Order: sequence, then C-alpha cells, then structure tokens
Amino acid sequence: MITDLLKSVYHPSEVLAMVRIKFSKIAVTDTKQPLEKLAGDLNDRAFCYAALNKVSRSFAIVIQQLPEKLKDPVCVFYLVLRGLDSVEDDMEFEATKRLPLLRNFHQKLYQEHWNIKGVGDSADYRILLQNFDKVIRVFLSLDEEYRLVISDICQKMGNGMADYAERKVVTLHDYNDYCYYVAGLVGIGLSSLFSASGLESGRLKDEYELANSMGLLLQKTNISRDYYEDLNLGRTFWPKQIWGKYTDRLEELQKNPSSPESLACINELVTDALTHVGNCILYLNMIQDKQVFRFCAIPQVMAMATLAKIYNNHNVFTEVVKIRKGMAAKLILKTNDMDQVRKTMEKCVDEIRKKLNTEDPNYTITKKRLNRIVEALDDVKYNPAPVLEGNIEQTVLF
Ligand code: MG
Repeated sequence: MITDLLKSVYHPSEVLAMVRIKFSKIAVTDTKQPLEKLAGDLNDRAFCYAALNKVSRSFAIVIQQLPEKLKDPVCVFYLVLRGLDSVEDDMEFEATKRLPLLRNFHQKLYQEHWNIKGVGDSADYRILLQNFDKVIRVFLSLDEEYRLVISDICQKMGNGMADYAERKVVTLHDYNDYCYYVAGLVGIGLSSLFSASGLESGRLKDEYELANSMGLLLQKTNISRDYYEDLNLGRTFWPKQIWGKYTDRLEELQKNPSSPESLACINELVTDALTHVGNCILYLNMIQDKQVFRFCAIPQVMAMATLAKIYNNHNVFTEVVKIRKGMAAKLILKTNDMDQVRKTMEKCVDEIRKKLNTEDPNYTITKKRLNRIVEALDDVKYNPAPVLEGNIEQTVLF
C-alpha cells in the first residue's frame, strides 16, 4: 500500500480514494495464509471465496458489488472458467490429456468428487484444481437455471480453447473469434445469470453481440497491454495481421520501442479495441440494478483508462504498463451510474485525442472511432431508454 500511495503523491484525490477503499466494505480481506492451508480448514463455499481472493483480486473486489443472490453463481462461474483456463495455460500438461479435458470439463461439473492434481501453471491454480470438488459441490447447490448457464458456457469455451490450442491467432477474424471464446462468452454467460436472477430484464440474455463486446473490450485491452509479459512467457496473442504490417518478427518491436513502427503497432491494437466501446455503452445503458451496473461498469472504465494509457506509449514494449492503484481506487468509487461512466470515458477519449499524431497510419480511423464513442455517450445521455440498434459498428460472429 505504501508504494501505491507514493505513486499517487501528486494526485491527492487518488490517495484519498485508496484510503477510503481501505477502510470501506469494498476492501477485500488480505489473507497471508496460503490457499493450500485454507483448503483444509474451510467449508466448500468459504474455500470458493478464498480461492477467488487468491486468483483474482480485481474480480474479488467487483464481485462484492453484486446483489447477494448473484454472488454465489457469479463466484462459481468465475472459478469454473478459471479452472478451465488453468488447464488451457498449462503447457507442461501433455496435449493428449489436456485437449480432451478442455472439451469435457463441463461434464466434470456434475461429478461431485472430481478434482485433478498437478495441473495448473501457478501454485494457486494447481490448488484450485486439486480442490475442485469443493467448487463442484457449490455449483451443484445452485439453482438449475444458473447451473445450465455455467455448464453451457464452460462447454463452448472449453471446445474453443481446444480448437485454438492447435492453431494460432493470425488474422483479425481469428483474434475476434479467440476473444469470443475466452471472454465474449463470459459476457454472454453473465447476462444470462443476470436475467435468470430476475434482477435484469429477460431481454438482456439475448443481447449476444453487446455482451460479447463487453468481454472483447476487456480481453483485447489486456492482450494489448501484456505484450512484454506474454513475450517473456514465450507466447503472444497479438494477431499477425496487425503486427505483420510493422515488423517481420514481433520480438523486434522491443528493440526500438519508440520507433514509428512500434508505436503504430500498439496504436492499431488500441484502435481495434476501441471498436467495442460503443456496444459496451449500449449494454451498460440496459442495466437496471445499481449493483449489477457497478459490477459491469467498473472493469469497462478501467479498460478504457488502460487503453488511454497504453496508446502511443513505448513503455508497453519494455514493461507491464498499468494504471496507478490510486486511479483504480478512484474509478471504483466514481462508477455508480451512466453519468459517471460518461465523464470517465470522455476523459479517456480526450487523453487519446491529445496523443493523436497525424503521421500515424491509423490516425484517421482512430479519430473516427473516438468520435463514435462520444456519439454513443451522447446518445445514451439523451436517450436513457435502451437503444438497441444504431450506427454502432458490429463486430462479426453471430
Ligand atoms: Mg488462457
């Protein structure tokens, strides 16, 4: 916390936000106990929440925003998909076993005592999978409607992951398609859970394209930001159709991080991610429950702030660029309704506009995408009722 406070030393409102969060019920209890120890001590449900805190601090924070009846289904949904992702990412786990497990993972959800040892690419992920029977028992205790959504999405995602384990993300179509499997489906599943809870309209679950965009914006933001980390792990999700315009070998970009080619490359990735913002605004405008709104909107404004930060930023090639914790804290506190989302998004748009460079090969298209975002924000301002079809760019798939 101290280093995070120092990073925000010139931003007093961020310091205040961090302190407020630390002492509010939003704070996630920091447990120093290893998950392995907790697994022995806790009941199934408590283990799920402890595991969630360990494997994703940021998700653990937003899940607390949800109304009580959605917390367990969403927590289990997240852990099931995290389990699946841990199988996908464990390259030491031989493909002849890994791929069938990805395809059949949804069936394991109905085997009360199923777990698997020694699989997962980090200690916490291995412990999660080793204790997966606990997650399964909480899954089995959920209402049938929730279970059907979770196992259906798990089946689709597992099959998509298995398909992509055998091929690379090369074209923009692959990029959208892969992101649909690993993130768009999360948005689609969450919409179904919200509708099933009765807190949101039954129509929300049918808005596949909007829900897909919610997932794609988050996923593409992370992929664009994580160039350096992923390259160090010997992988990349950047589509060659984009980076191939600027270099023959992706690793070369970090040798000349400030070159016009490197910057144009990250800028084109950001520009591509911006395509989805309009749909995300329409989706958020459909949400009726205030807590569900915060749960959905917080990650989106964080993504937008991250895109603004990484646009034209050479540091992406040599380090992991993140928004300051203080800024994240402020965004958590200031994302309560569409009005606040609009203000944050407008700021991010301005930040990118200031960095636009007429020499950039995508200058015109980036500018156009930013204008579209502002138009979409104005639209919901003057039409608070859901606008379901409009001039927002649609992004493939269905
Ligand atoms: Mg993965």
